[in-house]
Amino acid sequence: MDATAPITQDVMTLPRKAEEGLPNLIGMNRDTMREAIIAAGAPEKQAKMRVNQIWSWLYHWGVRDFGEMTNLSKDFRAMLEEKFVIALPKVVTRQVSDDGTRKYLVRIAGGHEVEVVYIPEKDRGTLCISSQVGCTLTCSFCHTGTQKLVRNLTAAEIIGQVMLARDDLEEWPVPGAPVEQGRLLSNVVLMGMGEPLYNFENVRDAMKIAMDPEGIQLSRRRITLSTSGVVPEIARTAEEIGCLLAISFHATTDEVRDKLVPINKRWNIEVLLQALRDYPKVSNSERITFEYVMLHGVNDSDEDAHRLVKLIEGIPAKINLIPFNEWPGAPYTRSSNNRIRAFAEIIHNAGYASPIRKPRGEDIMAACGQLKSETERGRKSRAQIAAETGGA
Ligand code: SAH
Ligand code: SF4
Repeated sequence: MDATAPITQDVMTLPRKAEEGLPNLIGMNRDTMREAIIAAGAPEKQAKMRVNQIWSWLYHWGVRDFGEMTNLSKDFRAMLEEKFVIALPKVVTRQVSDDGTRKYLVRIAGGHEVEVVYIPEKDRGTLCISSQVGCTLTCSFCHTGTQKLVRNLTAAEIIGQVMLARDDLEEWPVPGAPVEQGRLLSNVVLMGMGEPLYNFENVRDAMKIAMDPEGIQLSRRRITLSTSGVVPEIARTAEEIGCLLAISFHATTDEVRDKLVPINKRWNIEVLLQALRDYPKVSNSERITFEYVMLHGVNDSDEDAHRLVKLIEGIPAKINLIPFNEWPGAPYTRSSNNRIRAFAEIIHNAGYASPIRKPRGEDIMAACGQLKSETERGRKSRAQIAAETGGA
């Protein structure tokens, strides 16, 4: 596919039968798939082996057609064909930025849409995926936060985003061809639309599929889950997914964080930091990323930088400074480059890595916090936001 043309096209279509309600093999974990094929008539003794075979076709080879699963008998393939589907979300539009960033608008069942962004870099390629359509939270600087939660994505829709990006990058292995070194899609970040920890089970199941050694094989250290701070689910993230963690911190006092990240009213800075201190996986090699959006005159003073360093003392951490990505109607502006550099310097001098995130894909509105689906443009009313965030 020509990566340079900003084209709008269908990359694939939903199989017809998906609409008839047949179970989708995509998104099932191995146990569920085993039970499903036994219920469909597969002999129990062979079920485990059959699951391994199907799994490898789906997630190692990227096959979407039962007919291509050549190590399964014809009868078994016919049974699968009749009783199951292999269904992925549908790419509605694909835009390619001048800097190579790709943004996909993806349609899921019910006609809803989410965005997925692929960011190529020298030594890696990161896919930013969504976990919900919209978000229940109302962070005041986030475009997604102005959109109501429509629904959680299923595990199939979450892993499906990774699969359709691999389709577009033509990254499924070709039988007989030498294995490519270095992967185009080497990292996944759950930093698209939605709060992943409010859709825990589906996110977990999808990431387990992404990490499975017989399939897509992403290392758990190449998956980063970003949360606004859903404290009760933080320890579970380490225990049940094992990926890296990023926290949308963004402020150094409860007063300011209450406004920027209203979930702070439920779990404040102190409670959040305690959960991070207790994070079972945290170590120097698996530091927690603190995301900090730089908002002019709101959270970007030298005092803020000093307070931040003090707050996170003792937590193996890196601070990722994100220049605010403006969107139409946003109530904030981006801090100046000099301000961001001065802020970074203070943090750096305190011994923490403080990379400044380079805005990518700006020409196609693909940056963090700018994602919002066309179908759900309706802005929440002030009253609604106030009701959801408990006033203020
Ligand atoms: N809901 C999760 C993950 C999605 S947001 C969370 O909040 O962490 C991914 C990151 O983008 C978060 O750190 C979020 O705070 C940040 N972000 C949101 N809007 C932004 C904007 N307009 N500019 C820069 N970063 C933004
Ligand atoms: Fe939701 Fe994250 Fe945006 Fe907050 S920053 S509104 S939690 S997507």
